[in-house]
Amino acid sequence: MNATGATITSVTVVPMRLRFHEPFAVTSGVRTHLETVLVRLTSSDGTVGWGEASPDEGVTGESPTACVEALDGVLAEAVVGRGADDVDALGSSIDDAAGGAGPAARAAVDIAVHDAAARRRGVPLWRFLEDRIVAGGGTRVGRDHLQVSRVVSMDDPEVMAARAATHVRAGFSTVKLKVGDPEDWRRDVERVAVVRAAVGPDVGIKVDVNQGWRTAEMAVAAVAAMAESRPLFVEQPVDRRDLAGLAEIRRQVPQVPIMADEAVGSAEDLGRIVALGAADIVNLKVMRLGGLRAAIAADAVAVAAGMRSQIGTMIESSIGSAAGLHLATALASVAFVEMGGPLMLAEDPGDLARCYRGETVTLPDGPGLGVTPRPPFRFS
Ligand SMILES: [Mg+2]
Repeated sequence: MNATGATITSVTVVPMRLRFHEPFAVTSGVRTHLETVLVRLTSSDGTVGWGEASPDEGVTGESPTACVEALDGVLAEAVVGRGADDVDALGSSIDDAAGGAGPAARAAVDIAVHDAAARRRGVPLWRFLEDRIVAGGGTRVGRDHLQVSRVVSMDDPEVMAARAATHVRAGFSTVKLKVGDPEDWRRDVERVAVVRAAVGPDVGIKVDVNQGWRTAEMAVAAVAAMAESRPLFVEQPVDRRDLAGLAEIRRQVPQVPIMADEAVGSAEDLGRIVALGAADIVNLKVMRLGGLRAAIAADAVAVAAGMRSQIGTMIESSIGSAAGLHLATALASVAFVEMGGPLMLAEDPGDLARCYRGETVTLPDGPGLGVTPRPPFRFS
């Protein structure tokens, strides 16, 4: 469909370095800034769409520089001059450029394409996405409020407990703990136990290992020992390629749900995980999957398997976070939502943080993403 006859006329790419309120530590190191890339797509009828690539060498396999090169090159070529309303034809064209572009770069242009199309129709992005899912086989009724969790980076158990308690006092009923010490899984068990003692019995605790434990045997021991702290789930305990290990952990410690995260780069990956019985929950990250269209395809696999999902984040500014929140509102499998980037950034090109009240996010009701970057981020 190309209802208006509008075509895409340009893609503008702007790399940004945004400071965190507090340094953020995961297994792979400590980060003080978010390296992210904004994309502005213009159409012949004047409609603008925004997107974001938040790459991570260890997860999406891309550097910010590689994202800029792909967006300026093969991805701009894939969309400029094409009909702006035909999201599927644009998606195919973006997929065809995949050899020269990583998933975060593809996600950026895919988000911008969807944002522009929704703005042209005058509807919020979640409504636009939901219509597309319904047209493809049917799912859910939309919501306009979402509950998000805060993340606590890996540190000494007492430091993590203090941070978790701060988030609970600020109105969060769920916290996510980054663990994954390859040398000392017992320390990770202690981290979760000390946080549980600090926050009390009613707060939800998500545990993310980020592939940190070296073997499935180590992970079985750790997850079994963590069970008494009652985590909501344990995310990606072992290497992303070790699907048999994931399945084994799930078989040996059935009382703790296992989430696949880094292991899921596509709907096909998720299909393999379903076939092996390797996870209870899947973390759908727009940046790793390569965009909203790919996330909708993965959601369909999850729904068919009766699997719940989480809409996760690489940590993104207001643009990428808004895309994730709209997606979470539209998809049927979603049980958990992250998208806490706007709360973690001291610098953000958009103002999505205004939509967060404690753990509740009320989506902006304007067309498209409902968020537009503001100065000093100017574009010609
Ligand atoms: Mg994760």
